[in-house]
Amino acid sequence: MLAMNNCVKNRYFLFCIGCIAVIGLLQGLFLELVERVPSFSPLLFPTLTIFLLVFHLFIACFMAMKYWCDRRRLYLIAIALAFAGSAMMMVGTLSSFPSWLALYQFNAVNYNDAMIFFMFRHLIMAVLIILSALLYTIRDYPLSRPAHISIVTGGFIFTVSMVALAWFCSSHSSLLLLDLVDNETRQFMVLWSQAINILLIVLWIVTLATLMFITRVRNLFWVGGNFLCVCYIVTLTMLLAGGHAEDIAWYRARLFETVATLLIIFVLLYDVFRLYRDSHLKYQQSYQNSIRDPLTRLYNRSYFYESLNQALDIAKASRPVSVIVSDLDRFKRINDNYGHLQGDKVLQFVAHLLMDSVRPQDIAARIGGEEFVLMLANTSSEEAYKVAERIRLNLSGFDKASSEGQLPEPITISMGVFTATSSGITAEECVESADKAMYEAKETGRNRVVVFK
Ligand code: GH3
Ligand code: MG
Ligand code: MG
Repeated sequence: MLAMNNCVKNRYFLFCIGCIAVIGLLQGLFLELVERVPSFSPLLFPTLTIFLLVFHLFIACFMAMKYWCDRRRLYLIAIALAFAGSAMMMVGTLSSFPSWLALYQFNAVNYNDAMIFFMFRHLIMAVLIILSALLYTIRDYPLSRPAHISIVTGGFIFTVSMVALAWFCSSHSSLLLLDLVDNETRQFMVLWSQAINILLIVLWIVTLATLMFITRVRNLFWVGGNFLCVCYIVTLTMLLAGGHAEDIAWYRARLFETVATLLIIFVLLYDVFRLYRDSHLKYQQSYQNSIRDPLTRLYNRSYFYESLNQALDIAKASRPVSVIVSDLDRFKRINDNYGHLQGDKVLQFVAHLLMDSVRPQDIAARIGGEEFVLMLANTSSEEAYKVAERIRLNLSGFDKASSEGQLPEPITISMGVFTATSSGITAEECVESADKAMYEAKETGRNRVVVFK
């Protein structure tokens, strides 16, 4: 418990240090930029807004698709709606620059409209991000279908209503009036500077605190979310400090927001590739489990027969395929005297020995209790006999001490070799022939190799 608390504290501390470093760096960059470019082109702001709009749409689609893949992650739909709503608000922001594409008229800006869309954008995002954090707490509890549908519908209605409300408050409609900036003097109105701006800062502080408390900055995804909150708090505080809807403050706000958004996009992409890597790894593991024997990790019977059939398809006199069937001698005695657990250890020991005795392109498999089989590609009968002899001698040379307790007593093996020199034979026939040779080895005294004649 104490260690966990310390770990969370460390994460909070690192997050704070990271935020101070990144924001300090961005502020330094911005000041440097302002020094070099004293006044920005009026086209720059709408262009940046378009970039941000596309980024936010991208995040919204991405979150929605991720939710679509895993319906338990309902919190993602709240984030998707937050970014989709933000993107819609940015369309409104673009409409505040009525003729920015027209030559000589690009300076016409409705600052009040831009501010209204800005305010509602923050409202939508903060509320939906808080909702997402709350939904994150119940991610492991399956919700009923009606509850699920209600939350998604509620979030959607909230987003659309906010966008509609912003539209009605803007100059596009005469239904509602909201004066945040004087378009003549570009001065912030009292409502903005003494109420809404402060309320938005408080809202983002609450959002950040909720997010920090619930998610405990536990992964990169939430680091991105928390960092976005910090960026909004900083930019709104900067707007509060200036009493004027001056262009520079807006550019700074856009720069901070764009960097935070890029960070989130980076985190999302990282998440996708991490998931891809994990699922690929799991696929590899389950594939290996499907072709290997769990006790010895040698290949299993079906994989062996499949590989042998493939090798036999192209077998010919100049490219023979040899099969060695092996059976441990008097293995039942090991089980009876030392127990099954010790018997399993013996099987594992023999399996390792077989694996280490063949080339990487050969196949070593377990086809029965204590019956093993080797497929040696491109190997003549004489060479296969030599390999079998080497294995037999090697195994019989081990005792309890040299096998580090794996073998409770020396154990021997009987082996039968069969070599196919043409493709007109099946895997089953090959194994049967090698098996016959192995039984001959058993009958003629065990601990020997017999080649099928
Ligand atoms: P032989 O020399 O004639 O082959 O004698 P054997 O005792 O080895 O012959 P048999 O085939 O009768 O015995 C095989 C034994 O292998 C029987 C079974 O208890 C044991 N066995 C089979 N599978 C496993 C396993 O997965 N683990 C263990 N510990 N024993 C197994
Ligand atoms: Mg046996
Ligand atoms: Mg047997």
